[in-house]
Amino acid sequence: MKSLGKIITFLIIVFSCGGLENLPDTVLINGKVWTGDENQPWAEWVTIENGRILEVGSGQPPLAAKVIDLNGQLTLPGFNDSHIHLASAGHLLLNSNLLDVNTTSGFIKQLKLTAERLPAGSWITRGDWGAYEAWSMGSEGLSRNNQYFTPHRAMIDSVTGNHPVLVTRYDRSQGLANQLALSILGIESESGLLTGRELKEAQALIPDKPYAQRLAETKRALAEIRKFGVTTVQDMSALDQMDYYQYLRDRDSLTARINFSPSRLIDYKMMIDKGWVIDWHNPAGPLPAGDEWFVFGTIKTHIDGIMGGRTARFFEPYSDNSMEMVEWRGGWREFSKDLDLFKSMIISADSAGIQLRIHAIGDEANSILLDILDTLDVANGAKDRRFRLVHAQVISDSDMPRFSGRNIIAEVQPYHVTDDMRWMEERIGYERCKGAYAFKSLNEAGSILSFGSDWPGTNASYYPINPLYGIYAAVTRQTLQGEPENGWFPEQKITLEDALRAYTYGSSFSAFEESRKGTIEPGKFADITVLDTDLFVTKPEKWLYANVVYTIVDGKIVYQQRSLVD
Ligand SMILES: [Zn+2]
Repeated sequence: MKSLGKIITFLIIVFSCGGLENLPDTVLINGKVWTGDENQPWAEWVTIENGRILEVGSGQPPLAAKVIDLNGQLTLPGFNDSHIHLASAGHLLLNSNLLDVNTTSGFIKQLKLTAERLPAGSWITRGDWGAYEAWSMGSEGLSRNNQYFTPHRAMIDSVTGNHPVLVTRYDRSQGLANQLALSILGIESESGLLTGRELKEAQALIPDKPYAQRLAETKRALAEIRKFGVTTVQDMSALDQMDYYQYLRDRDSLTARINFSPSRLIDYKMMIDKGWVIDWHNPAGPLPAGDEWFVFGTIKTHIDGIMGGRTARFFEPYSDNSMEMVEWRGGWREFSKDLDLFKSMIISADSAGIQLRIHAIGDEANSILLDILDTLDVANGAKDRRFRLVHAQVISDSDMPRFSGRNIIAEVQPYHVTDDMRWMEERIGYERCKGAYAFKSLNEAGSILSFGSDWPGTNASYYPINPLYGIYAAVTRQTLQGEPENGWFPEQKITLEDALRAYTYGSSFSAFEESRKGTIEPGKFADITVLDTDLFVTKPEKWLYANVVYTIVDGKIVYQQRSLVD
């Protein structure tokens, strides 16, 4: 009996191997697949071979070596987040996050938790305590500094033990050091509170993070990314972040594709040296440099500031005070006030084949960017350059027609709507708000919507990576609590399909990657996300609680809902 069993097993192996050779690696069956492909919007099964989508169809699924039953759940092209800052996100997740902290007990609790999750000896820094407290007090409260929560080192000395601490208030006006940090830095202070020059000098003495800590932060951020079904991120971290991605890729543990964008305009020269430019002569259409996991060719810079700090550039003064017009913040600190130098560098970068993505908030800033695009067309010739307006936050009526027929990318973060609507009208007035986050108008004017999160946000608010928050915001234009009832400037709501498209195809198109990402079509990367909630039949408020069932990257499951693992 024993030997017969062996023979049968042997035959089965031979038979299976012979059969498997011709079968695709994987088939996903019983799905409600929204493909994003206009020719075949819905399907039930998808086959995968060598990390690529082989076939998409409905009805009887083909055989495959591995079968994944989707149980009728909504299946989407993997989300492509067109705007994140991964290194900062990793820091916030693993190091300290004090944005919503404004009490003694909250402060102690958060620093204790941070100390527990970091390796002994590592510094606890930043944190940005009091940010939400400041928002809740409104702009009037911003002038009542003395009422803010103020920590004391006695609160945390005992819970932070062997970790030196130098955390800061959200506006960086104060820092708090614990006893260990003070003795390392050679500073005497009873309270541990540092301000002004003393704070700056102390911060300058903090050693760079050890490699292991940066790596741990990168891994933590990637875990968050796959948990929310994001399969590509377009990252603007500092250049050395690439070392950590490379390390993980060498060990086969990178779980998202990376589109990497340096964020200092001066870096365009380095990009040319490294060949980090768009390949404009590719017979299949322009394609970024790099390979299937890392791509390059886009540079990020700024032309104005932010509305919160009244540094965003508008045609008319702010509505809530008569402060003078702000200075240009072209390229941030690099070229402030020198718009001509800024423009000339942009022309050089563009002529070398680099794609430009430029931060613009105010209506005048956006208008000037459109002028710069006109200049590029003249200086370097018209081409499908997919000029990216980062945030494209407020657009004047007269500029809307300028988006037509030029593949201009509106690189927008719809979750900002839910956050900013609380104070925006006060700051710029009702009329200008009509052109704020005007996704519908931008879509109709012919721009390409490219959605992202701006994760992890600013020193004043946390923007989650969860794409469903952004999709909810674009479709409802409401806060997470459902305010206002019909949405803020409801005429700018877009449909669920348009929002999904902007988070998949649109963001892939904005990076010249639509030939291999952004829809579920044969030949594209098998980057697929499955949700436990059908967005097409549930109310938007339910989307906020939807979970990812599977995140599939390169044909492999990189995240699986916990209940399925157990
Ligand atoms: Zn950003």
